[in-house]
Amino acid sequence: MPDETHAPERRSWVESANEPGCDFPIQNLPLGVFRTRDEARLRLGAAIGKFILPIAEWLPGETLNVYCALSATERRDLRRTLSDALTAGAAQRELIAQSEAEMLLPCAIGDYTDFYASIHHATNVGRMFRPDNPLLPNYKHVPIAYHGRASSIVPSGTSVWRPLGQLGEGRFGASAELDYELEVGFFAGPGNALGEPIAISRAEEHIAGFCLLNDWSARDIQRWEYQPLGPFLAKNFATSISPWMITLEALEPFRTEPAPHETAPLGYLRPAQSAFDIQLEVFLKTPRLGEAVRLSETTFRHMYWTPAQMVAHHASNGCNLRAGDLIASGTVSGPEKQNRGCLLELTWRGNEPLELPSGETRRFLEDGDEVTLTGHCARDGFVRIGFGECRGVVLPARAD
Ligand code: CA
Repeated sequence: MPDETHAPERRSWVESANEPGCDFPIQNLPLGVFRTRDEARLRLGAAIGKFILPIAEWLPGETLNVYCALSATERRDLRRTLSDALTAGAAQRELIAQSEAEMLLPCAIGDYTDFYASIHHATNVGRMFRPDNPLLPNYKHVPIAYHGRASSIVPSGTSVWRPLGQLGEGRFGASAELDYELEVGFFAGPGNALGEPIAISRAEEHIAGFCLLNDWSARDIQRWEYQPLGPFLAKNFATSISPWMITLEALEPFRTEPAPHETAPLGYLRPAQSAFDIQLEVFLKTPRLGEAVRLSETTFRHMYWTPAQMVAHHASNGCNLRAGDLIASGTVSGPEKQNRGCLLELTWRGNEPLELPSGETRRFLEDGDEVTLTGHCARDGFVRIGFGECRGVVLPARAD
């Protein structure tokens, strides 16, 4: 439930946090790991307006794994403490300008799992390959996921090399079908002991916070390798995430009803808990485009499975989640064409190229293209909060 930290009348002594449309008002207070240009040490901070409040006096550490390990009650207490320290009238403290800081990965990510929780994405992709039977019969029963690669997760702003790989029988070379996937990621909270499932009623206690995530995907490599064990080198060359962890507590006002299920899920996946209404957008900038163009907009509310269902399912066999593990939602698509969260869907496997204002067309990403994901939450009676951005530029393949 929203509390006084979400109250719209609460304002900060940091003036830039009070500007309408600001991503980081006092009602947000996302956490991140940063360093300033002239310092090697890593610090934890909270974003406020255009600044960062260092938070070592309340939460010492160099990664947010210490935050993820807190209980839900401790997370709420820290939020209240930070909110009080930044409220107008409180004593002013040392701040770091975000423009002077480099943002790093929020957590040391031990494990990374990518779900497939958008029924619109699953149906679109299925339709391309199985027009008569787009949605596989297990989809409405079991949340589908694969284990991804943690070592190649990079923070926003890191450039991504076009991958080399097998493109078919006897063919090795640079992927010609490089794509992005618009996703929401979330970090595991305290986690569970090996062998002990997490009840769905407690699953949200095990979600520390959210980020934007781009699951870069090489469709030609994927097509050749994905059967029978699923994606491997088509996806593990890079995954970009936004650096600010938007806490579960910041999203309280933006809880919403989960998507309706005509097929009731099994008991351990019920009740579904909350969906979250996060508005998401994808922008593309090419070297010839003066400014970025928006490729799609959608909402996280459309997902078939909720974050709580993903957590409960992940731990249902006793698999242990550890503080700071990253779980991604899968491509977030919606019912309309403008809601499609990747180029595979937007160009329908490249058959319907996008036409850009520069006169260029795009089936898939070209070298030099920059993909930016953004997200925000807005609701009448509450202050808008933003996710910042998740950005990456495609670099040419290193060799052929
Ligand atoms: Ca994905």
